[in-house]
Amino acid sequence: MDHVDVIIVGAGLSGIGAAVHLRKQSPDRTYAILEGRDAIGGTWDLFRYPGIRSDSDMYTLGYAFKPWTNAKAIADGPSIREYVRETSRENDIDRHIRFGHKVKRASWSTPDARWTVEAEKANGETVKLTCNFLFMCAGYYSYDNPHQPQFEGMGDFKGTHFHAQLWPEELDTTGKRVVIIGSGATAVTIVPEVAKDAAHVTMLQRSPTYMVSRPSEDPIANWLRTWLPPKVAYHITRWKNVSLQMFFFNLARKKPEQTKERLIGLVREELGPDYDVETHFTPRYNPWDQRLCLVPDSDIFQQIKAGKASVVTDEIERFTPTGIKLKSGAELPADIIVSATGLRLNLIGDVQLTVDGAPVDASKSLSYKGMFFSDIPNLASTFGYTNASWTLKADLTCEYVCRTLNHMRDTGTKICIPKRDPSVGEESWLPLTSGYIERAREVLPRNGDRKPWKLNQNYALDLMALRYGAVDDGTMQFSNPPAKAGAEPMKAAA
Ligand SMILES: Cc1cc2nc3c(=O)[nH]c(=O)nc-3n(C[C@H](O)[C@H](O)[C@H](O)COP(=O)(O)OP(=O)(O)OC[C@H]3O[C@@H](n4cnc5c(N)ncnc54)[C@H](O)[C@@H]3O)c2cc1C
Repeated sequence: MDHVDVIIVGAGLSGIGAAVHLRKQSPDRTYAILEGRDAIGGTWDLFRYPGIRSDSDMYTLGYAFKPWTNAKAIADGPSIREYVRETSRENDIDRHIRFGHKVKRASWSTPDARWTVEAEKANGETVKLTCNFLFMCAGYYSYDNPHQPQFEGMGDFKGTHFHAQLWPEELDTTGKRVVIIGSGATAVTIVPEVAKDAAHVTMLQRSPTYMVSRPSEDPIANWLRTWLPPKVAYHITRWKNVSLQMFFFNLARKKPEQTKERLIGLVREELGPDYDVETHFTPRYNPWDQRLCLVPDSDIFQQIKAGKASVVTDEIERFTPTGIKLKSGAELPADIIVSATGLRLNLIGDVQLTVDGAPVDASKSLSYKGMFFSDIPNLASTFGYTNASWTLKADLTCEYVCRTLNHMRDTGTKICIPKRDPSVGEESWLPLTSGYIERAREVLPRNGDRKPWKLNQNYALDLMALRYGAVDDGTMQFSNPPAKAGAEPMKAAA
């Protein structure tokens, strides 16, 4: 059985970033990346719907160590995929990736201080590897099963119906009447893109979402890049955007009414006084109770104004052979219906864990510093911010994991385990009310009511805590297995 020091699960933005951090900060560790699919890029390779793009800026969604130099701050999916692939190539990571290895089970043995990881290949063959540390970079949602609510009569529809996560590459929407169900980031991306050629696109929503228009290019970032070395320009822009994002998030929390009025006022300016903003663009919740939807260069508003796209706020009664019947009694004729109804969240890539023979459920554990799980040894997982770019937290998580590994090397310890203190109370993990978070409350781990079990969801605080805070903080226990006859203490590999 092959053995490496660290197994990284997933070759998406997080997994490739983790490998780069490991190479740079813990170069003495051997590692392998197990990737279930046959490609690098994760989200940015999987999603193929028209217009696929980021909804946060690439100066914060990009890695801290690799400047984003493209003129577009809001980038398209293929450019982000290429950025991740390029990172892998430049850092000699490709040869460490085992594609087509879907990890199903991982079993920890305390006497051996090792995980045995079982992965399934496409041909059904099971491959086993061992490692000292398991670093889950498997994202946060199911790749196979998106969230598809069941509507009455779905089978009656004679046109084409599918989920946006499974967009058929050969589909031609030219001249077609298209209905997109949903009003989240996916729907808001697809509508203006498909509206360019379709006969008409309707965004059918049960309730509105906050939308804010921003230019897809950042003139300050592009100007800085013409004058300064790319790394310097990147870091200035990154900090500018981190600060602005934190400022607006805190403002929305402190002054929800004013923020709400401002956001809705901006939509009114986009769509004009005759548009029914009250019905279609006035959410029932406060800003940042759910993620804000970014509209680059006002694209969806322009298609609405041009009459190429429209928004319907209503509920589905049933699918009919020719479209959708709404609870109001109205009918929406359609050739194509797309469910942009969201993701099905999962945790640690749906991998089944056992610790010394006993099954453990990470979702029942307490999250430690947003990356380890209480009482689960030598395992960390990347989970980015929900109120800022994912990679800001992913980078900090990798730094912290490397510091932990280096501490174990320096102290000759093989096991690290965040020991749960029974007096710590539980809170829900993420402070958002979005449908996909609500649906996944049972899947996500718990947040503690105090440090180090409580998530900060704040980059500046995390930066201080994770980059500079002690890894041996009294909660994380470092130890060795009971000595076996002839065993040697762990040393750094040459
Ligand atoms: C459409 C869309 C747009 C988004 N836009 C943004 C944005 O603008 N800004 C932002 O901050 N976030 C955004 N996100 C969140 C986004 O997922 C993260 O930004 C980031 O791409 C996550 O990277 P990741 O590597 O952690 O996970 P993923 O991209 O999901 O990659 C995980 C990888 O792990 C593999 N994997 C999973 N389970 C296993 C297993 N058991 N065995 C082996 N391999 C496994 C998968 O095949 C995949 O390759 C978006 C998400 C979606 C779905």
